[in-house]
Amino acid sequence: MKEDMVPKDYNHEKETKWQAKWQQSEIYKFRAIENRPRYIIDTPPPYPTGSIHIGHVLNWLYMDMIARYKRMDGYEVLFPQGWDCHGLPTEVKVEEIHSIKKNDVPREIFRQLCIELTSENIQIMKKQMQRMGYSQDWSREYVTMTPKYQEKTQLSFLKMFKEGLIYRAVHPVNWCPRCETAIAFAEVDYQKNETYLNYLKFPASHDKGNVPIATTRPELLAACVAVVVHPEDERYRHLAGEKVTVPLFSREVEIKTDREVDPEFGTGAVMICTFGDKTDVTWVNRYQLDIIEAIDEQGMMKEFCGDYAGLSLTECKEKIVKDLEKEGFLIKKEQVEQNVGQCWRCKTPIEILVKKQWFVAVKELAGQVESAANLMEWMPEHMKTRLLNWTGSMDWDWCISRQRIFATPIPVWYCKECGEVKIPREEDLPLDPTHEQPKMECPCGCNDFIGEVDVLDTWMDSSITPLVIAGWPSSKFWDLYPSSIRQQGHDIIRTWAFYTILRSVALTGETPFQSVVINGMVFGEDGHKMSKSRGNVIIPEKVVEEYGADALRLWAANSVPGSDVPFDWKDVQHGYKFQRKFWNAFRFVNMHLIDYQEKNLSPDVLKPLDRWILSLLNRLVKEVTLALENYNFSKACNRIQAFIWHDFCDDYIEAVKYRLYSQEDAESKQAALYTLNTVLRTSLKLLAPFTPHFTEEIHHYLEGGKSIHLESWPGLDEELMDVKAEELGRIGVYIISELRRFKASKGMPLNTPLKSAAAHIDNPELFQHLEILKDDIIGTIRIGNLIVEAGKPEIREITVDVTPRMDKIGPEFKAQAPEIVSYLQSHDPQEIASSLENDGHLDIDGSRITEEHLNLRKELVGHGGEKVELILLEDLDLVVEMVI
Ligand SMILES: [Zn+2]
Ligand SMILES: [Zn+2]
Repeated sequence: MKEDMVPKDYNHEKETKWQAKWQQSEIYKFRAIENRPRYIIDTPPPYPTGSIHIGHVLNWLYMDMIARYKRMDGYEVLFPQGWDCHGLPTEVKVEEIHSIKKNDVPREIFRQLCIELTSENIQIMKKQMQRMGYSQDWSREYVTMTPKYQEKTQLSFLKMFKEGLIYRAVHPVNWCPRCETAIAFAEVDYQKNETYLNYLKFPASHDKGNVPIATTRPELLAACVAVVVHPEDERYRHLAGEKVTVPLFSREVEIKTDREVDPEFGTGAVMICTFGDKTDVTWVNRYQLDIIEAIDEQGMMKEFCGDYAGLSLTECKEKIVKDLEKEGFLIKKEQVEQNVGQCWRCKTPIEILVKKQWFVAVKELAGQVESAANLMEWMPEHMKTRLLNWTGSMDWDWCISRQRIFATPIPVWYCKECGEVKIPREEDLPLDPTHEQPKMECPCGCNDFIGEVDVLDTWMDSSITPLVIAGWPSSKFWDLYPSSIRQQGHDIIRTWAFYTILRSVALTGETPFQSVVINGMVFGEDGHKMSKSRGNVIIPEKVVEEYGADALRLWAANSVPGSDVPFDWKDVQHGYKFQRKFWNAFRFVNMHLIDYQEKNLSPDVLKPLDRWILSLLNRLVKEVTLALENYNFSKACNRIQAFIWHDFCDDYIEAVKYRLYSQEDAESKQAALYTLNTVLRTSLKLLAPFTPHFTEEIHHYLEGGKSIHLESWPGLDEELMDVKAEELGRIGVYIISELRRFKASKGMPLNTPLKSAAAHIDNPELFQHLEILKDDIIGTIRIGNLIVEAGKPEIREITVDVTPRMDKIGPEFKAQAPEIVSYLQSHDPQEIASSLENDGHLDIDGSRITEEHLNLRKELVGHGGEKVELILLEDLDLVVEMVI
């Protein structure tokens, strides 16, 4: 490209031009070309909130870098993008926007409003993703709320139902009173808080005294069904099998013994309520106790609670504690810390309610999940342990029914007559059982059915993504299944990773992906989680506007999977400067490459520094390739930047400029051009996955039409990797940089010619090296002549100027001063210095002049008698004697 067509400065605003071009020319489209290896990415479908955050930037960058690298490395890469649409936040947002409650309008209308909002949000986020330069194949986009996707979710439900892996049962479930829906264990977050442990008196029957019981949940007294103590607890041994009266409710319950009771906690006696927590559920099942439903779906006390009916849990707790105190049942209160389960979406404390719900038989599949997880490569490895621990802790099945609206309908009906579950035919999917009736009658003869109004957990949609992107249920899906890689955050290991493995093994019997790469979270610059109240939230669009997507990508690339990453403006700015530095180097190189014909060069004509940079370049190719294979993005990115910035721009280019301008040595110039061209093009390719826009822009000026992202990944030329050449080159660039530093310290422009220099060295090997490097040192530093000599330099110090100090001479010698000055000016400074040295003073017509009356300026001279400067290069034990 002609040099005047290359702009002086790099303009990151051109990034959008390339993004449009890439979309238009479909360069990221997956084409199932035979004989080409395939690489399939199971991309996370984000929740369409309407904006991508900085965590997304990091997460997607990893996938994008891998996708770009693999494409260049010869793979057909499938990098799809989906959207996980359903769920409560959208329902809440719709209620807010339209000032309605979900039950104010027909379900279908409410669902439609959710779809509209979600569609708008998807469009916004899609643009934001494209603005980051991510290379998804948008022709493979999937949206979980569409009939096409719902068909797959419903089909997966039916298949697992037929296998007996999905069932309906009455079982205690975690319930969010705010969201008014059942939730799965994976959606319960535990949070520490302070509460009171209330010590209550339960009067024992047959006048056997009182049993003290400590509880943090007195509001559940109405649902107390038994009291348990440890069988060997001396305090209560005599009470086993006896009864106690529940305070305020005057109901008797039995005292049971159980080895799981911790005699050390509270009073050693525990009340079982239906249900305070998971242990209650275990005991109720073990002893077949009655179930009292004290709380309703909104978290209000039910009829059964008598005086407390209609109160909220908090109100009930307050009133009940007051009443216990009044009636004399409260012994004492003490403050304790407790772990409370909360709904992960809205942070409301969850309750345990008994409900008829749909479940996935997790316990039955746990072993298969473990085996599948063990077959995968986990990055970092310890994330596998998190999944295995979670899998091992399963003691409840996965509750998949939700009492919401905006979700995939559960495709079942119940017979009005006999209550039998009726499922549709697979070919009739997708369907909404509240709108449609079964096509066949019930075996009991009844033709009347009630459609299931509950809907599916959102994870039921998103846990089949590796199947969906492969085209399931078409039998061809095996071509693209399993995925090569699953990448996701560590916060959703127990949900997305766990559920996907579970569902995939249930539906296919095979592992869903070969590798799992887990990315960390992004923190604010202050090291804290980003939050509006802290004011440390970084909005990706703002960064992109100011510095460009590539600079933001360089920040994110400076990290590794599994580790949390703080945002860092300095990294972004460094990335911004790096691009400008490289741009300037490119412009310079490009100017010289205009008439250059690319061709193979005999290695013999390469000069020492050419061999040095080419060896480093090949080492770089090797290291970066390995680092990318190991997902060590930080190492790959830092190595490339350091090489380009320092080795190439600062050292190599500076050291070969003289060869480019040389009229005499055409071969040396050709070797320099060959090397510049090779290093420039190869390092651009290595950098392409990191800064796709910047590299495309330069590639465009070099090559014209073809995108750099369709180029092949650089191969390794082992022959050019040469440790000796690297050592020699390192010495060369070190000497050159020290001599340049010397020039700068003298305030000389770097192109100032110097007369001559002598390098003194004792080490014979280094002596030889210097002989080889001589031309480059001379050419770059512009020294008239350079001699390399063994041994130390022969130099001496001479006095070149003697000036009288009038502040001393004036007052002391008064009228004689002019004569003294005249003497000093007319005599040789070196002679004066010798006399001073020999006699300690000068005698000028009887005036005794010593060194304190004079300023002497001394200089070093070499054996030729010329003034020299000494430069000491300590690393090499080398002294350079320089004649300016
Ligand atoms: Zn909730
Ligand atoms: Zn029936």
